[in-house]
Amino acid sequence: MPAGRFAPSPSGDLHVGNLRTAVLAWLFARSTGRDFLVRVEDIDRVRPGSAERQLDDLRALGLDWDGEPLMQSTRTDVHVDAIRRLDEAGLTYECFCTRREIAEAASAPHAAPGAYPGTCRHLTESERELRRRERPAAIRLRAGVTTWAVDDVLHGRYEGTVDDFVLRRNDGVPAYNLAVVVDDADQGIDQVVRGDDLLSSAPRQAYLADLLGRPAPEYAHVPLALNTEGRRLAKRDGAVTRRELEDLGVDVPAMVAASLGLPGRSPRELLAAFDPVRLPREPWVVVPPVGAS
Ligand code: GLU
Repeated sequence: MPAGRFAPSPSGDLHVGNLRTAVLAWLFARSTGRDFLVRVEDIDRVRPGSAERQLDDLRALGLDWDGEPLMQSTRTDVHVDAIRRLDEAGLTYECFCTRREIAEAASAPHAAPGAYPGTCRHLTESERELRRRERPAAIRLRAGVTTWAVDDVLHGRYEGTVDDFVLRRNDGVPAYNLAVVVDDADQGIDQVVRGDDLLSSAPRQAYLADLLGRPAPEYAHVPLALNTEGRRLAKRDGAVTRRELEDLGVDVPAMVAASLGLPGRSPRELLAAFDPVRLPREPWVVVPPVGAS
């Protein structure tokens, strides 16, 4: 069964912008007859109890999902195996760069913006031997392209940078870009709806899917929520989580529905009128409710 998904990182409570993205992911999936899956991306930045609170928030909004949420941390063996297959195909190399070294090299003239400059790509075996004594290596993809195109329901054809991105961090943890591609493919997810801050990651992920012999999903990168100063909505902007808003008497499902210009309150009611073509394309500016700081 083809599926869409919402894949939050349990690093704290979701704010109303994240909740709106979850509702959109559900609407895109359900309006196209897909299953809707929830995957808890708990391999990085986990705050204890956060996953349960996030799932409570999704339920309180009226969202439902198929099967149990998948905990990404249970998938380490599969992620490691994917890295091993890429390695056997000669598509990886060890990288010893610090963040600082990367920032310095990446600011050199002619460097592609935001791209790893390839410092460790051509190390000799004896150089690698020396560097291994200094610090543990991350594993990077030896990318065979510098750009890749994806199809996005809201952005059309989008071509973006592909660099030698990290597959395994130097603490041994599989990197987000690797885990997300392997898990989406294994879960039968063929539609990825998420915030448009991740649009620039989609070409890397679609390219990696291709290398692993998996089809890329259809993407819909939806506008983010901003505060009244035009910056990305954050916890410090006042009452922005479901619990905080409810404490002030706000009907959160109705607030999310209104932000989408859709009639109704519950996701089921929104479904009848949902049309991706008519979605607001501008960021959603969240005005704090009266009484909030
Ligand atoms: N777990 C990621 C996040 O919460 C989202 C991953 C994705 O949707 O691809 O930012």
